Amino acid sequence: MTIAGAWHAASQRIDRLDARLLVEQVTACTHADLLAHPARSLSTDQLSRLDALVGRRAGGEPLAYLLGSAAFYGREFWVTPAVLIPRPETELLVELAIERVQPHSGARILDLGTGSGVLAVTLGCLCPEARLTAVDLSVAALAVASSNAARHAVEIDFRAGQWFSPLGEERFNLIVANPPYVAQGDPHLQQNGLPFEPQMALTDGVVGGDGLACIRLVVGGAAVHLRPGGWLLVEHGYDQAGAVRELLHRQGLADVASWRDLSMIERVSGGRLH
Ligand code: GLN
Repeated sequence: MTIAGAWHAASQRIDRLDARLLVEQVTACTHADLLAHPARSLSTDQLSRLDALVGRRAGGEPLAYLLGSAAFYGREFWVTPAVLIPRPETELLVELAIERVQPHSGARILDLGTGSGVLAVTLGCLCPEARLTAVDLSVAALAVASSNAARHAVEIDFRAGQWFSPLGEERFNLIVANPPYVAQGDPHLQQNGLPFEPQMALTDGVVGGDGLACIRLVVGGAAVHLRPGGWLLVEHGYDQAGAVRELLHRQGLADVASWRDLSMIERVSGGRLH
């Protein structure tokens, strides 16, 4: 079968753009190759690999896991089912973070629950003199994050453990976190490919809870891990901004505020240590 024929056939089963990206993946072609040489033929092996990938996509598996890669803030990152696929709304955290660190200041930046490492690596690229630390409980996630750090030539001090536990009494100028915040039992967890993503990255697992258990731990430890003037910025769910601001106030943080993502949803809240 030709590349064009395989693309057409795959487009009958899945989204046309997804089909094209999978054809390109299996044949190691670029989009330009595909347009320039539509009559090139696929080997039997390529056809069977394509068929398997199209079947998985048709079964709801996210495209990023099939490609092994996803874009965030203009860069490509490796992703595996051990990590959450980066979401565009998390780019807001990057923007708020870089407004708060001097790019050439040697600031210490901490990313809690780093997952694929998109936040730590992107901040490392944008603030080349910052010193980065990234924590995750999942050793499999840390392996992905560390391959992304190498891919983008960013040096990051990775630590395995729960939230602040591997950090002793270290203090930071900026702490960012995109912790799990979807309430256990939220029907959203059954939709849009979320069942294929690591549940420990999506939900705190507390049955009948409000999804905020991890955010409570992150906010609760911030005051003793921030340097004076340092900021904590946390991503949260569409209806959690008020509750998170309340937690930040209770920790005595100043300048507490929430910021809206591109869908105009309050998506990140933060505060500063006096
Ligand atoms: N924003 C993600 C979603 O709702 C959840 C990310 C997270 O829990 N940190 O799909």
